[in-house]
Amino acid sequence: MIKSVGILTSGGDAPGMNAAIRAVTRAALSNGLKVFGIMDGYQGLVEGRISELQRNSVSDIIMRGGTILGTARLPEFKDLKVREQGVAKLQEKGIDALVVIGGDGTYRGALALHEMGIKCIGLPGTIDNDIACTDFTIGFDTALNTVLESIDKLRDTSASHHRCSIVEVMGNHCGDLALYAGICSGAELVITPETGYDELEVIEKLKALDAAKKRRHAIVVISEKITDVDLLAQKISKVTGFAGRSTVLGHVQRGGSPTGFDRMLATRFGDFAVELLCNDISAHCVGILENKLVSTPFEEAFDFPTPSRKKLFALQGRLA
Ligand code: ADP
Repeated sequence: MIKSVGILTSGGDAPGMNAAIRAVTRAALSNGLKVFGIMDGYQGLVEGRISELQRNSVSDIIMRGGTILGTARLPEFKDLKVREQGVAKLQEKGIDALVVIGGDGTYRGALALHEMGIKCIGLPGTIDNDIACTDFTIGFDTALNTVLESIDKLRDTSASHHRCSIVEVMGNHCGDLALYAGICSGAELVITPETGYDELEVIEKLKALDAAKKRRHAIVVISEKITDVDLLAQKISKVTGFAGRSTVLGHVQRGGSPTGFDRMLATRFGDFAVELLCNDISAHCVGILENKLVSTPFEEAFDFPTPSRKKLFALQGRLA
């Protein structure tokens, strides 16, 4: 039976991480465990920047974006010698279990720690929704709402000017943020890693919207890392009836107060992580599938098939 648990956030930050830190802390304290916060992910672990958390240490953070523990990337954590330093720091404090909040990379670090005798549970925290074994990650819903707020505003102005707005959103290599934002904003086109990208096809579709359907404006939501949206906007201005304008939403998508959905998700995940550790389960990640909390071994998570979004893409196309 474990006696104390450490918490860290790692990789990219996401709104709702604080709600998860709060839930893990309070659930662990309720189970009679000591709780420690580790600063800046695996970096702070290796450097021993670890302090004990009390109930009040996590007061008034459920509504705050970012992560009070900070986050960092430490590629050297793949090196056994570096991890041994981290394990030594945990042993100094008597910490026998960890809850790590992050993505795939963070889970790989946790799996390696598990193999060195530290019990680990992973919580999915990223706005990209690109983590296997869960329908939703902590931060995705907040980012979606941030994106929608911007697209709604862009629609107002682009409708007034017969413009086509190209909106680039985050998502890393996952198109969920663009797809959901496209559906929820009524975008005319959605381009993601899953749809692939063909500039000619995009231009033809816009010409058709302009000529045949007499649309006053068009919104194109596109995932990051696909094409240069400034150049695409220029091309649209040149060859279609629309004036093309590009907007890269950038890091605002990562900030802000978490939505109710994300707070609930983070709270349920955090509480469940402690329950798993108290039941002697380790090297699992937590997720939600069809509104049921589930836990999956890390190894299976790395090979988990990417869910098909065919129906959602079809829905977007039908209603655009
Ligand atoms: P994310 O968790 O969002 O996927 P990263 O891929 O940057 O973010 O991973 C976060 C951190 O996890 C890395 O900076 C590194 O410290 C650690 N990590 C990633 N891959 C491994 C690995 N194979 N072994 C050990 N630690 C890893």
